Amino acid sequence: MSINETQSPSNFIRHIINQDLKENKNNGKIVTRFPPEPNGYLHIGHAKSICLNFGTAAEYQGTCNLRFDDTNPEKESDEFVQSIQRDVQWLGFQWHELHYASDYFEQLYDYAVALIKDGKAYVDSLTPEQIRAYRGTLTEPGRESPDRNRSIEENLALFQGMRDGLYADGQYVLRAKIDMASPNINMRDPTLYRIRRVHHHRTGNDWCLYPMYDYTHCISDAIEGITHSLCTLEFEDHRPLYDWVLDELHTPCHPQQIEFARLQLEYTIVSKRKLNQLVTEKHVSGWDDPRMPTIAGLRRAGVTPAAIRDFCERIGVTKKDSWIEMGVLENCIREDLNENVPRAMAVLQPLRIVITNYPEGQTEHLELGNHPQRPEFGKRTVPFTREILIERDDFAENPPPKYKRLIPGGEVRLRGAYVIRCDEIVKDENGHIAELRCTYDPATLGKNPEGRKVKGVIHWVSEPHSLLAEVRLYDRLFTVPNPDNEENFLSVLNPNSLEVLTGCRVEASLADAGPESRYQFERTGYFCLDTIDSVGGRRVFNRTVTLRENWEKD
Ligand code: ATP
Ligand code: MG
Repeated sequence: MSINETQSPSNFIRHIINQDLKENKNNGKIVTRFPPEPNGYLHIGHAKSICLNFGTAAEYQGTCNLRFDDTNPEKESDEFVQSIQRDVQWLGFQWHELHYASDYFEQLYDYAVALIKDGKAYVDSLTPEQIRAYRGTLTEPGRESPDRNRSIEENLALFQGMRDGLYADGQYVLRAKIDMASPNINMRDPTLYRIRRVHHHRTGNDWCLYPMYDYTHCISDAIEGITHSLCTLEFEDHRPLYDWVLDELHTPCHPQQIEFARLQLEYTIVSKRKLNQLVTEKHVSGWDDPRMPTIAGLRRAGVTPAAIRDFCERIGVTKKDSWIEMGVLENCIREDLNENVPRAMAVLQPLRIVITNYPEGQTEHLELGNHPQRPEFGKRTVPFTREILIERDDFAENPPPKYKRLIPGGEVRLRGAYVIRCDEIVKDENGHIAELRCTYDPATLGKNPEGRKVKGVIHWVSEPHSLLAEVRLYDRLFTVPNPDNEENFLSVLNPNSLEVLTGCRVEASLADAGPESRYQFERTGYFCLDTIDSVGGRRVFNRTVTLRENWEKD
């Protein structure tokens, strides 16, 4: 993998780790984790966190765990657990250990009992609304709950009763006893446990009591011996609570939480909740719709893991929130595909050409290189015949100025083949161009014609040999750079984000293209054979990215 090969630029997290190593903290060990909640598919924002956590561990000969933070059973499912594992591995990473926060439920419960015994937690009967009202504001301190000074014995009995299912959902919560006047609202006696009778995708109905994220996360990190707990900036205000819980419990390991800026990418959204809404309301075909910023969507579009890793490396890791232009991601994809995928010819909107001076029934097998800069990619055979197809756009009856492609009476070179001249336009009864009748110059195979210049080069396929294909042209999912800032993000969905072209023709060499085969269709863009819909003889290609950036900056 290229992650270790290229010397990565420095970032503040590497500085912290280098310093820790100097001081021989944690005996020089580096242990990180990637902790997704299995409530959706991973998106490009998660890729940043994955590359950071797995990449940092690899760079320092450390290890990285995959841990499912599965403490919100309502929204979680095994489908998401499976997809997350698939996506992490596809990105090129392998976890050291696989864990589930739910595996720690028993330990977490014991730790909560220890807090109660220490007088550091209490069972509260305030309703969620009351808790909110008691919490105070940024400018006003909170008020203490009347239950705050319940005896340890009573707390222990109530907490056991909560576990045993004696109380209704919401009747009690367990809260940490910290400081209702703390300037940090997260420290005003945060809830540690709530009663919830919901089925959990792993523990089934074993529990009706579930621990809160903040309580679970730090203890899970400590249990696994994580040294550096990397998370996004919104958890900065939660760090005092993270540290408080571990200090109070005297856990043998006390990981260091370090926050970094979330990835925010223009023209898309990176929120599982909103992506989920796009899927359930069918604005897209699924989590793996190629327009989605999910790993599965990018994969289906034809993006490679290397391009995503390169993108994450280029955007770097900072403490400051910023928006990344979509063009940055697209350029990473383009550069990777340009270098690494073979060329092929495909005609998306065919116009028939009959080469009148080419012998009927003859086929010439031309040898074309698969990659202009990489001879090791080899050559393929491309059949040339009397009837060929070119792109409708590559012919103009009334050409605009500087038009370099085919025009009536003009010449153009067919890529890898001959120069042809358009002699006649044949129209149908509606006046539409049905076909062109051309002649070819037999002396121009791989050579310039004598005494005249032919500027344009166009792609083509043999009509009898070419294969039918459907081509899906994807565009950005939203019409504005920051859809998240809209009151209703659905109102700025791009209505033209998908254009389906049927009746496209691709060259015969693609007959055996396997799922996820990627190509540069010459002059057209980068495409990938759709894994899901290319069945039963159907051939569907997804456009991964255009050849050039064609979105103007606002
Ligand atoms: P979402 O709002 O999309 O659900 P999340 O942060 O709740 O995001 P988690 O499954 O909890 O999603 O995230 C797993 C890890 O990925 C966390 O450490 C989180 O900080 C990180 N992460 C999530 N979104 C981003 C992002 N946009 N950029 C960088 N890291 C992210
Ligand atoms: Mg979350």
